Amino acid sequence: MSRLGQHAENHLVDRIGWMRAAVLGANDGIVSTASLIVGVAAAAANQNDVLIAGVAGLVAGAMAMAAGEYVSVSSQSDTEQADLARERKELKKNPGLELDELAEIYVKRGVDKATARKVARQLMAKDALGAHARDELGISEITTARPVQAALTSAASFSVGAAMPLLMVVVSPAGALVPLVSAASLGFLAVLGAIGARAGGANILRATVRVTFWGALAMALTAGIGKLFGTVI
Ligand SMILES: [Zn+2]
Repeated sequence: MSRLGQHAENHLVDRIGWMRAAVLGANDGIVSTASLIVGVAAAAANQNDVLIAGVAGLVAGAMAMAAGEYVSVSSQSDTEQADLARERKELKKNPGLELDELAEIYVKRGVDKATARKVARQLMAKDALGAHARDELGISEITTARPVQAALTSAASFSVGAAMPLLMVVVSPAGALVPLVSAASLGFLAVLGAIGARAGGANILRATVRVTFWGALAMALTAGIGKLFGTVI
């Protein structure tokens, strides 16, 4: 199969997409594991129990991320392949109708009829499926989706994120576990938010505040729940 868009900017977009996925995975790992740790610790569990809960959270989260990413990438790819197969068949069966259809799309975008037909004809002469995929189906690039690679990347970045608060549990003195894990995790989140914003060209301060706010909220909630259950049971 021929690749459709081979512009230089696609590589930049690819890289940002990949980086963003990795940053998001690590972000999830920090927030969910730190919240879990803080919640269990607030319920007055000992350091060993907290560590076991944290490790279990890391494994469960990494598996959930991998499974989710695998399913999402595979189904997206299946849908695109099915759309392309249908389009290929239509192009073979009804090339005239497909030319009208493509020209009509350009007319709707503001091109006059004669020019639209000319553009459609020339584009279809070069790569009919490519032109229809891009302008009719909105598939800008026929990517060879790799669900296994996406799954492994997500699981790995989640694990790296989750390992940070877990490490804090190991080095923290018993009495200071909750404040130390919370503060360090918010610090990790802020750094990660800044990296993500930089990679995506977004406002660094806003991204950092946003990500630490949600992290703090998650930890406060689980700490409250942990405390509640710790005193009730
Ligand atoms: Zn078409």
